[in-house]
Amino acid sequence: MYEKHYPGHKSVFKLNDIAIGEDFVIAAGPCAVESEQQLKAVINQIYPYVHVVRGGLFKARTSPHAFSGVGSSGIDWLTEVSQKYDKPVVVEALDREQLALLAPKIDIIQIGARNMYNYPLLAAAAATERIILLKRHFAATVDELLLAAEHILTQGNPNVILCERGIRTFETRTRNCLDLGAVAALKQLTHLPIFVDPSHAAGDASLVPPLCRAAVAAGADGLLLEVHQAPAKALSDGPQSLTPSQLKQICVDVNAILSGVFCRDSRINVEF
Ligand code: PEP
Ligand code: MN
Repeated sequence: MYEKHYPGHKSVFKLNDIAIGEDFVIAAGPCAVESEQQLKAVINQIYPYVHVVRGGLFKARTSPHAFSGVGSSGIDWLTEVSQKYDKPVVVEALDREQLALLAPKIDIIQIGARNMYNYPLLAAAAATERIILLKRHFAATVDELLLAAEHILTQGNPNVILCERGIRTFETRTRNCLDLGAVAALKQLTHLPIFVDPSHAAGDASLVPPLCRAAVAAGADGLLLEVHQAPAKALSDGPQSLTPSQLKQICVDVNAILSGVFCRDSRINVEF
């Protein structure tokens, strides 16, 4: 079934001074970049313990009336922040036009859950030769996720990170159901790094810290987290957005689990 997934081997992608797949990665930032000031306000507070800065510019909102992002004007704000703190950046592309705008300047291209089945977009993303963060669709099986990744791998781009972000079940207490069984299964099935996004799974910031700890214990290679300097005022996904101090506590906890349970050097800077 798979030609490009080799269990047993582990893929490692170097980016700046991090080795994705080897070092544990904290990718964090606002769901949506709202303005230059807002981006700087949140990243100024979290940069010491974040390896990759996330920030959505083009938002796939369920409601057409919701804030849909600042668009391409935010690319320069993100690259400025990236250079200032020497942190790579991850941004989602919803279509080929956005890919063309992002690829020259953005280190990691995110393909969101809704586009996991968009095979022409996967092929176009592969052609950028950037690292691709591929999120699992909320109704996709593990095999469908792996085959979506193969659409990128077979185009000659080996740099794919898989991301579990919760699936739809009958449960309504959480926004989605974080499928850590899938993380454990993926660890056996593929060499690709596996990130976990507890923010979109939980839909509630108070649930994010325990899900982070569980994801690390399940073997995740990184976390994708939404953080806002004032979550109550966020234009997108405020209820699930962590405050900078909540993120800091998560980093302390993750570090403790990694070093204690896995004897793994997290390279998370908790001495700030
Ligand atoms: C996101 O990470 O910004 C996002 C929209 O997530 P998902 O595609 O998992 O819904
Ligand atoms: Mn979001």
